[in-house]
Amino acid sequence: MLQPVGLDQARRIALREGFAGELVVPGDGGYDVSRAVHNGLVDKHPALIARCRSATDVATAIRLARDLELEVSVRGGGHSVSGRAVTDGGVMIDLALLRDVTVDPEASVATAAGGVTWGEFNTATHAHRLATTGGVVSTTGIAGLTLGGGLGYLMAKYGLSADNLTAADVVTADGSHLRASAASEPDLFWALRGGGGNFGVVTSLEYRLHPVAEVTAGLVAHPFPAAGEMLRFWREYTADLSDELVTFAGLVHAPDGSGVPLAAMVVCHCGTAEHAQAELAPLLAYGSPAMVAVDRMPYPGANRMLDAGFPRGARNYWKSSFMQDLDDDLIDVMIERFARAPSAMTAMIYEHLHGQVTRVPVSDAAFPHREPGYNLIMTSVWTDVATDDQNITWTRDTFAAMQPHFAARRYANYLDTDDTGEIVRSAYGPNHARLSDIKRRYDPDNVFHLNPNIEPA
Ligand code: FAD
Repeated sequence: MLQPVGLDQARRIALREGFAGELVVPGDGGYDVSRAVHNGLVDKHPALIARCRSATDVATAIRLARDLELEVSVRGGGHSVSGRAVTDGGVMIDLALLRDVTVDPEASVATAAGGVTWGEFNTATHAHRLATTGGVVSTTGIAGLTLGGGLGYLMAKYGLSADNLTAADVVTADGSHLRASAASEPDLFWALRGGGGNFGVVTSLEYRLHPVAEVTAGLVAHPFPAAGEMLRFWREYTADLSDELVTFAGLVHAPDGSGVPLAAMVVCHCGTAEHAQAELAPLLAYGSPAMVAVDRMPYPGANRMLDAGFPRGARNYWKSSFMQDLDDDLIDVMIERFARAPSAMTAMIYEHLHGQVTRVPVSDAAFPHREPGYNLIMTSVWTDVATDDQNITWTRDTFAAMQPHFAARRYANYLDTDDTGEIVRSAYGPNHARLSDIKRRYDPDNVFHLNPNIEPA
């Protein structure tokens, strides 16, 4: 482990360079709050937390870390299950104080700082009846999610979050301030749209917005014994969907704390109320649901509907994989394993990909996963510390049992620290070599390595 740096030494250097944010070290009030991330399993102790107020502060923090030979981590929204936003013994560059969002409704553009969450972003853009693709849980950070790709309810109509990124302000490993867009630093701009936090600290992100105000969204739950049939129905249903509809389905537990397992379908339709009603009719008419909660609502409301299932501080261990087909054996194994899930907060969800997200050519941006199909995400979530091993082992064993049905492709934003080597390369697919070249140009010393890492070529 790296040596802790003394507060006085750090402060002297930072003040000399005009650091305007807060420097927090072990023992300071606020240290434990600042080092905590969404995943309660993560318990790391940085030597220094640099709570930045500007891009200049970020550059100072990077220089400070490099001068002191300390490892660098970057926290946007602090949501990554991997916990790589925080480092043991290094400098955590914390963007939580950078929360501005400005919207230009005439140009349909929003500019948001690196510490903004999707809830904050959506509130600001909804005031103008505009939105862009973001994560499906409102407490997730825009920065980490967008840099890794960004799957969400609007992706079939408008592409990934990364596909809607039009520019970014970046502080690179040598402290340079760069503007990345199609016109400026185009290789860096390409790499930022799927290459994650490998290339620098993104202090501001500019997005294209779309006319989305109300959506038809919600959840339909069926009794667990109907899970196999429901998933087979949903598989057929997803064969031909309009770009307005994004749907997920899988196995969950009743949110009332009873622990009752359920089969569920989640929908978000961004078309007109009439179009949504017509397209959702077969799904709503299917079988004998235990619960139907689908309604017309403002888009920010749809973005909050799954929040309660992912409380801050709960313990998380996730696995995921893309696949082209949902075959019957996979459905059967999934159901059989889920019935033995150790936690009543755990879910196994298929995210369906079609429409615009799958039409963008693989080489247009760093995110390579453009095949229509499904992404399975196993979100193991629990609160009892004593059951850590049980939950992690169950997740690993279940994933291994389903592995033969998966494609060899993973989503970078869902990888954990034990996903290494070929698994990380598979997250970048055919774009890995170009990313590695660009990494050499912008971060030759691999300062930004706490991520699904791309080594400099
Ligand atoms: P952080 O933990 O702050 O950062 C994670 C990593 O991103 C950092 O280690 C760093 O490498 C990089 N990073 C973050 N901010 C910056 C920055 N400003 N500059 C440079 N690098 C940075 N993903 C989806 O695509 N769609 C979803 O719907 C979705 N839902 C989720 C729901 C939950 C409950 C959770 C826990 C995760 C979800 N994710 C989803 C995954 C999510 O994309 C990643 O966890 C992502 O890293 C979150 O971004 P963050 O800024 O909050 O993360």
